[in-house]
Amino acid sequence: MTFKELHISEPIIKALEDKKYKSPTPIQEQAIPVVLRGHDLLGIAQTGTGKTAAFAIPIIQQLDQPQDKGYKREIKALILTPTRELAIQIDECFTDYAKYTGLRNTVIFGGVNQRPQVDRLMRGTDILVATPGRLLDLIAQKYINLDHIDHFVLDEADRMLDMGFIHDIKRLLPMLPKHKQTLFFSATMPSAITNLSNTILHHPVRVEI
Ligand code: AMP
Repeated sequence: MTFKELHISEPIIKALEDKKYKSPTPIQEQAIPVVLRGHDLLGIAQTGTGKTAAFAIPIIQQLDQPQDKGYKREIKALILTPTRELAIQIDECFTDYAKYTGLRNTVIFGGVNQRPQVDRLMRGTDILVATPGRLLDLIAQKYINLDHIDHFVLDEADRMLDMGFIHDIKRLLPMLPKHKQTLFFSATMPSAITNLSNTILHHPVRVEI
């Protein structure tokens, strides 16, 4: 199986060649077609399986590209992840995979001065990678408009709960547009995670590695 056979567009294929990715990993092979069809996804996979590209590639491909008619730079994809390290890694993946598209990505996380993050947000972004606390802070300060989000990723949901982010997530969910694609990733599926996934996913396709 090749990325071309998964109907990945040329600018993304070119970026993946730069990364020396030869073929999709099993989670990518299973998840990419599902996400491109617009379904919600329940992905049960650990870090190291290539799950970041499994959601990043089809999200990039589904977004209006800056050269398209009617294109406006607004936050259209939101990726929520529990730690600063993961947020930075995911943001770097978007930078790499979207480098020939003209799309812009931004990362925000707590524990550092918010100013540089706000400055970058003000310049406009299509994709936002965030940890929960800083995201809610910047929403409360009206630096972030969630009205145009079409794709929402909840990454490492089990770690999110272990780290006590459930209240933050529950505060955030009602702020997101009702109609959107949601991709939910967790390494394990204890009952609290199953319950959360049931409340936020609509007829998801389940992919397990
Ligand atoms: P992740 O599970 O998303 O943290 O990815 C684990 C590592 O695999 C990262 O270093 C990626 O750059 C790499 N990777 C992801 N997809 C592929 C692929 N199709 N071929 C080779 N390496 C990959």
